[in-house]
Amino acid sequence: MNYDVIIIGAGPGGIFAAYELTQHRPDLKVAVFEAGHALEKRRCPIDGDKIKSCIGCKSCSIMSGFGGAGAFSDGKYNITNDFGGTLYEYIGKTQALDLMHYVDEINLKFGGEGTKLYSTTGTRFKTLCIQHDLHLLDASVRHLGTDINYVVLENLYAHLRERVAFFFDTPIETVKIIPGGYAVRSKAGEYSCKKCIISVGRSGSKWMGAVCEDLNIPTKSNRVDIGVRVELPATVFAHLTDELYESKIVYRTETYGDKVRTFCMNPKGAVVNENTNGIITVNGHSYEDPSKQTENTNFALLVAQRFSEPFKDSNGYGESIARLSNMLGGGVIVQRFGDLRRGRRTTPGRMNSAFITPTLNATPGDLSLVLPKRILDGIVEMIYALDKVAPGTANDDTLLYGVEVKFYNMEVKVDEHLETCYPGLYIIGDGSGITHSLSHASASGVYVARNIVKE
Ligand SMILES: Cc1cc2nc3c(=O)[nH]c(=O)nc-3n(C[C@H](O)[C@H](O)[C@H](O)COP(=O)(O)OP(=O)(O)OC[C@H]3O[C@@H](n4cnc5c(N)ncnc54)[C@H](O)[C@@H]3O)c2cc1C
Repeated sequence: MNYDVIIIGAGPGGIFAAYELTQHRPDLKVAVFEAGHALEKRRCPIDGDKIKSCIGCKSCSIMSGFGGAGAFSDGKYNITNDFGGTLYEYIGKTQALDLMHYVDEINLKFGGEGTKLYSTTGTRFKTLCIQHDLHLLDASVRHLGTDINYVVLENLYAHLRERVAFFFDTPIETVKIIPGGYAVRSKAGEYSCKKCIISVGRSGSKWMGAVCEDLNIPTKSNRVDIGVRVELPATVFAHLTDELYESKIVYRTETYGDKVRTFCMNPKGAVVNENTNGIITVNGHSYEDPSKQTENTNFALLVAQRFSEPFKDSNGYGESIARLSNMLGGGVIVQRFGDLRRGRRTTPGRMNSAFITPTLNATPGDLSLVLPKRILDGIVEMIYALDKVAPGTANDDTLLYGVEVKFYNMEVKVDEHLETCYPGLYIIGDGSGITHSLSHASASGVYVARNIVKE
């Protein structure tokens, strides 16, 4: 065998698996294969000046490379079982939380010390929310910020490169079962190992599907979250964000009984494009460094869509809606809430007369031509509900960027060790469909590494 353990994907899941393996068993030969670039080579060409929108790089530096999809993220590590994945269903709630705390300790050790840990438990906002039929979920959140998150990754890489063989710009094409282990093939050649950890995240979801089909590993896919990113003056949410940083608020709509939730809140942050398999959607981030902060806060409002038989391609449904916005707007569309309410398009003129300065250069347009009525109605209801706890949310100039889609990877069948029906083949992180966040993905990496060490 070339290696004891091969890890496919250098996102948080892969990084923390490698870290934990080398901590306990420095003698093991471990290799990490990553489709994207090394951290220092990751650069999104959009500079807002010469290149204003996505040019579809072969390897998207936002989604791929050392650090995975999380490298330029806001670095919010939510320590909770209430959202961010269902890891606890496999490993138990206490262990899942313990592992998330452990990941937090490592992040602090590698450059995150001094960053804030916020908590929602026992705050007055829980009462305020419930009084308006809004439900604030419990969580502790470590906010590293985009800048410190990058420093932590730099330090983790400096630590790991001495202990692990890294192969960047090396997408794995196939995984084969061989006697006593696995063989992975890339353009650089074939490598064998005793144990194989697959942690390919969202960008590797299609490839993951092909591997599962090839190896007959059962999967299921029935969920996608669709919505918009809301941007408004930071003062509107300041009372919540100053104390909690991020609040995950859930609302059940009166019209349809659908759940709408806030997601990925970025106080004084910026709205950004996200490229998933060539489709441009919207996301957001913020910096810990005050000099990089903006006047605005942004967050997503998402409506969960679950499908039943016979429809199976929930991500395809989300992609089609995102494609529609790309078709009409050439990318992301932005609309003032006031224009949406009045049933009219936001024009460049209306945009220019707004009191808010958008942080993303998106095409002014009409989201009602893109989003299904049921989803749009839910979002509008939620905006009015939020207006009661954060007055100003339903102002005319509140900006809605569309669409934001949260794709869920298909859920891969694994056991309580996150091991597939093939002994020694593990699937972790967002690529498994079990996690959807930095902390859960990282925790799944630590968990699998510990199990391998135990064996
Ligand atoms: C802009 C943005 C902001 C975000 N902000 C937050 C946040 O603040 N908090 C939070 O909890 N979550 C956030 N997320 C989500 C978070 O980044 C992911 O949940 C997390 O990165 C998942 O980790 P992972 O290791 O499972 O997968 P990923 O981070 O997606 O890493 C998978 C890696 O595998 C590589 N890969 C894929 N296919 C192959 C292959 N065939 N061969 C080799 N390598 C392959 C990819 O290039 C990638 O680098 C954000 C995501 C984005 C895009």
